[in-house]
Amino acid sequence: MIEYKQKLELIVNGICLTDKLKKYLLEKIGKFYNDDYVTTTGVMLEIGNNHDTYVTAHLNNKSKYVLDLENDEISFYNRKAKEKIDTTIKIWEPSPYMTQANLNNNGEYFKYVNSHFDRARINPISGCSFSCAFCSVNSYNYNLNEISPMDKALTNALLDERVTHVLISGGSPKESDLPFLTKIYEHFPKKFKNYDFDAMCAPRGFTSYTDRTQYRDYIQYLKDVGIKGLSINIELFNKKLCAKYCPEKFNIGNSNYLYFLECASEIFGTLCVRSGLIVGLEPLKDTLQAVELICQTGCMPMLSPYIPYNNIGKFPTVDFLLKAKEKTDEILAKYNIPLAPLCSKCKHNTL
Ligand code: SF4
Repeated sequence: MIEYKQKLELIVNGICLTDKLKKYLLEKIGKFYNDDYVTTTGVMLEIGNNHDTYVTAHLNNKSKYVLDLENDEISFYNRKAKEKIDTTIKIWEPSPYMTQANLNNNGEYFKYVNSHFDRARINPISGCSFSCAFCSVNSYNYNLNEISPMDKALTNALLDERVTHVLISGGSPKESDLPFLTKIYEHFPKKFKNYDFDAMCAPRGFTSYTDRTQYRDYIQYLKDVGIKGLSINIELFNKKLCAKYCPEKFNIGNSNYLYFLECASEIFGTLCVRSGLIVGLEPLKDTLQAVELICQTGCMPMLSPYIPYNNIGKFPTVDFLLKAKEKTDEILAKYNIPLAPLCSKCKHNTL
């Protein structure tokens, strides 16, 4: 059985695949890892005799965790302890339908839809109008994607029976493009009625990020068109660091984030609204303050270990993550609120 600590070690230290295993995987399934965004790049692992731990681990030849091939079976080692880890482990094949669709379309489908474990993610926008310094999404040119190719890409992604739910993801549009996003939120849940759709977005109304008089009506609108859950990610609560690394989020302001969350929890319900925080790029006391305030809005916090990008910061240590989890659990218990996400597979890159 895998311990929680080992999951965190896999997130921050990655995993080494032997050449023998890589060759086998290439022959058997072709592409065996994701290489899209900074937070989702790596091999998708399902670990545990109860199939209850999911983790995305980046490839790292120096990791103490090693996957090898023995008698056509994948074996899992801790080379530092020189021992085999007694658990079942499976590598999730990236969606063969999306891989094929990308091959047939010069990699075009990648910009519209990605799949990770059981969730497909639609990208209504290529790139992002926000300039968060640690994020790879805004390294792509900003463009509004047309509905028709997104629709086709999602249809392909849903051929994969492992996919059970969909996230309409960021980036964030320019304020003048907010109405375009509103159309997208309306189109997909109506068309693909058999799937639950969540939306990840910054606080917003129909035409403005900061006019909070629009928030309540906008959230009600999202609910009415069939969106099932919201992900409104504060990410960094420390004002100085937020201003430095996420200037547009800083301009929207923590108080607007919290007000939006409060309205969202009233309209959607606690278990349908989460707010992500990055753990390891700001002092823990700021993250924990945000956890407490998110709970007070009636929403669920979600903790994402920081994955370094752009030469900013380092991976947090496993001890830091364990402490963050322990302190967060104490706060959650006070409010009787669970840690998001509730989907076990979507915990692949969270605490
Ligand atoms: S808003 Fe989200 S997608 Fe856009 S740059 Fe910031 S973290 Fe990346």
